[in-house]
Amino acid sequence: MTTTNDLVHQLDRQHVFHSWSRQGQLDPLVIAGAEGCRMWDYAGKEYLDFSSQLVNTNIGHQHPKVIAAIKEQAETLATVAPAHANLARGEAAKRILERAPRGFSKVFFTNAGADANENAIRMARSFTGRDKILSAYRSYHGNTGSAIAATGDPRRVPNEFARGHAHFFNPYLYRSDFWASNAEEECQRALQHLRRVIECEGPEAIAAILLEPIPGTAGVLTPPPGYLRGVRELADEFGILLIFDEVMAGFGRTGRWFAFEHFDVTPDLIVFAKGVNSGYVPAGGVVVSDAISRHFDAHMFFGGLTYSGHPLAMAAIVATLDAMREEGVVENAARIGDGVLGQGLERLAHRHAIVGETRGLGVFHALELVSDRERRTPLAADAMNEIKHALLAEGMLPFVAGNRIHVVPPCIIGEDEVEQGLATLDKVLGEVSAKYA
Ligand code: PLP
Repeated sequence: MTTTNDLVHQLDRQHVFHSWSRQGQLDPLVIAGAEGCRMWDYAGKEYLDFSSQLVNTNIGHQHPKVIAAIKEQAETLATVAPAHANLARGEAAKRILERAPRGFSKVFFTNAGADANENAIRMARSFTGRDKILSAYRSYHGNTGSAIAATGDPRRVPNEFARGHAHFFNPYLYRSDFWASNAEEECQRALQHLRRVIECEGPEAIAAILLEPIPGTAGVLTPPPGYLRGVRELADEFGILLIFDEVMAGFGRTGRWFAFEHFDVTPDLIVFAKGVNSGYVPAGGVVVSDAISRHFDAHMFFGGLTYSGHPLAMAAIVATLDAMREEGVVENAARIGDGVLGQGLERLAHRHAIVGETRGLGVFHALELVSDRERRTPLAADAMNEIKHALLAEGMLPFVAGNRIHVVPPCIIGEDEVEQGLATLDKVLGEVSAKYA
């Protein structure tokens, strides 16, 4: 029997319970295969992947070296308990530390981004002997107990792990919570606000500030110059640890290995996942500073899962990071972001009244859509849905969140593919601008 879109769709709808959705309203897109920045269905319809799936396929789809490494590892040692030393995990940790700043000495591996945040929080609490975690309202840290409690948006449904979490407003000049009219004001007021939150929560009770250097899911919110340095200084003043969640922004997406490198500031713990092996096999982890690592030489660390540091995931990390270095993938993301992509998005913002703001770095951009530019009224959900379907019909896989199109193609994308994507966006934005803006 030949596989068809209908067959796969039917199988899915009969048997699969999806994440983040109302099961009765689903109409999932069928994907049969992929290569590089392209995906296709069983009828041969092709899509340009401008989403990198969930912003994770930094090296593109089906990279031959990564696939070969996974196959080879499967034939050698397909699984092993985390307590054993094994070559792939040692090599993966070594590669990651080569990319980290000085002062980091160990890598703790997890299965994904959320459990990496769980473990970073646990390390911070154990190291400081304090309980509270401060994180930003405009953030996403994952969908497990503490990670979703740290997340700032309303998906933060109360759960038993919400204990010990407090939130603060992070900078977002376009919709400033501080009535700021420029980046300098936004930065200073956001830092004053954070200082007040620390004072009111009790500095001696706060273990860590957990922050995405560039919040991704919340809207690709590049912070104003000086903000992250200011946060670092506040953390140091009060003996609080700083955890950077680099799950989405890390491993090349912003045109640097880590997003925090743009801001000349170093955290105490670096949380990663997604781009570390482009999601070919689930993996995440925490890069641990020398001081915290030394603490756990003498103290028990209560963390770990059966598949922590799974050899297939580790082999995929080694091959991904080697291929990224050999092929200049991070440099490509920087070049594309400064050049054809960044400039192209600026042009779209000038041409279409529906674009309120475009922002980002590397291959990490967002177009914020509005129905009234002056009032900055967010474009309504049904219009955004219409845009999503129009882009799909035109052969583009978009990442749509709230009133934004996140422009987040794989870091390997070439200029021709960027031009093709921009032309699709131009066409669809033109159509909806005429209707809604
Ligand atoms: N942290 C950030 C910044 C993320 O963007 C995400 C996922 O989008 C997570 C954590 C959670 O990662 P995962 O879905 O792999 O658990």
